[in-house]
Amino acid sequence: MERADAVVLGAGPAGLGAALALVRAGARVVVADPAPEPGGLCVTRRRDGFAYDVGGHIPFVRDAPRRAWLEDLLGDDLRWVGRPVACVRDGAVVRGRYLDQRPAGPEAAGPHDATARGELASRFGAAFVDRVMRPYLEKVDGVALESIPGDRARRLLEGQAAPDGFFFPARGIGQLMDAMAAAARDAGADIRLSTAAEAIHAPGGRVAGVRLAGGAGVAAPQVVVAMPAAAAARLVSPGPPAGVLGPVRMRAVAIVYLALDRPRLTEETWIQVDDARVPFARAFEIANWSPLLAPEGRTLIGLECYCRADAADPVWGLGDAALAQACARALGDPLGLLDDPAGAVAVEVLRIPRAYPVADLAQVPAVRAPAVWLDGLEGVHLAPGAAVIEAVEAGERAAAAALGAGRPAPGAAGVAGGRTGAPGVR
Ligand SMILES: Cc1cc2nc3c(=O)[nH]c(=O)nc-3n(C[C@H](O)[C@H](O)[C@H](O)COP(=O)(O)OP(=O)(O)OC[C@H]3O[C@@H](n4cnc5c(N)ncnc54)[C@H](O)[C@@H]3O)c2cc1C
Repeated sequence: MERADAVVLGAGPAGLGAALALVRAGARVVVADPAPEPGGLCVTRRRDGFAYDVGGHIPFVRDAPRRAWLEDLLGDDLRWVGRPVACVRDGAVVRGRYLDQRPAGPEAAGPHDATARGELASRFGAAFVDRVMRPYLEKVDGVALESIPGDRARRLLEGQAAPDGFFFPARGIGQLMDAMAAAARDAGADIRLSTAAEAIHAPGGRVAGVRLAGGAGVAAPQVVVAMPAAAAARLVSPGPPAGVLGPVRMRAVAIVYLALDRPRLTEETWIQVDDARVPFARAFEIANWSPLLAPEGRTLIGLECYCRADAADPVWGLGDAALAQACARALGDPLGLLDDPAGAVAVEVLRIPRAYPVADLAQVPAVRAPAVWLDGLEGVHLAPGAAVIEAVEAGERAAAAALGAGRPAPGAAGVAGGRTGAPGVR
């Protein structure tokens, strides 16, 4: 049985954020992830001379210290992309997301509301919200605006906005993940890829260690959960009581990557599309994020189609070739961005059947239950993140909890026992 101060489950942005913070504080850390490369959803794929991300991935940097942290990891490869997300209104591409469009007159600071409809209507007026914001949000989330939680709307408005542009790694979001993994390894983290966690031992409600694929056991007093909470809860022994692992409906996304033999299709980074006739809700042109991502004279556009992973779904149910053709046609009509859809070549159609839980108020208790139960186990620290930097920061908070809030770096003394203050068992 190996020993560590902490095991981190997942090497996406949350897990890497946690690992980096833990090793920099002197802890012995093992990170496990079944994927062959670090990054979780934040990986950059390479094909036909292009490099492209699993969907556009804007890192929402909110303050100067986070920017300095990014510069430290990426150096000159951190670019400022001075182009905000755009959207299509009345047949034209206009600046700003649907959520950035504003009615005439002052904005009201309405009271917080449980529903996205109530939240937005109190700020911008119900008629404006229904006409301008509703179609896009419902197209992405697949439920009525009245069923989307109000805090999702608040997060999109405030935390996940990039009104003037954004910082981005020159070689794609995966470059940031690679840099985080390299920095964590340099500081001593043991990052095991192609290695899933298979069991979390928590006798008496207190974490004792983790079993990894291949049979390796790691004894550790602290575990950071930076993988989906429901999947982690299934690994715990003894397991959760009945009712904690109820069914949860998931949203799927199919991403169609189309290559064109021309230098650019648009000037935009990302275009939101609310038109129900168009299979995709967002189109991102990678060369406008960084010229290093596309070869000279060619361009690639990624088309994010949000749907249900069900053969009866009109988008998911199409075969890859048919979906790519439908996307290319829509770029021509109704969007008017492409004269010759037949000239678009599908580089890849990537399907993520379980991208995120459907944002439906009715299933919030079921989504939260595994996380609440895991959080009640001593030595378990959750790192939930709905966005890249948010996930990194959740990982850092989980690391701080594992290290013991307000304590000095533990160095060789081991990691303190998190929320309970119990000593680490090195
Ligand atoms: C299409 C799309 C577009 C997006 N756009 C943006 C954007 O513009 N800006 C933004 O900030 N965010 C965006 N996001 C969200 C962002 O990708 C996520 O918020 C972020 O990746 C969450 O990080 P994470 O580390 O929590 O989870 P993940 O990135 O999902 O990583 C979880 C990791 O856990 C691992 N894991 C699973 N099972 C196990 C196991 N048994 N043992 C160990 N590890 C396991 C997985 O392999 C994975 O590597 C987008 C997401 C999608 C799908």
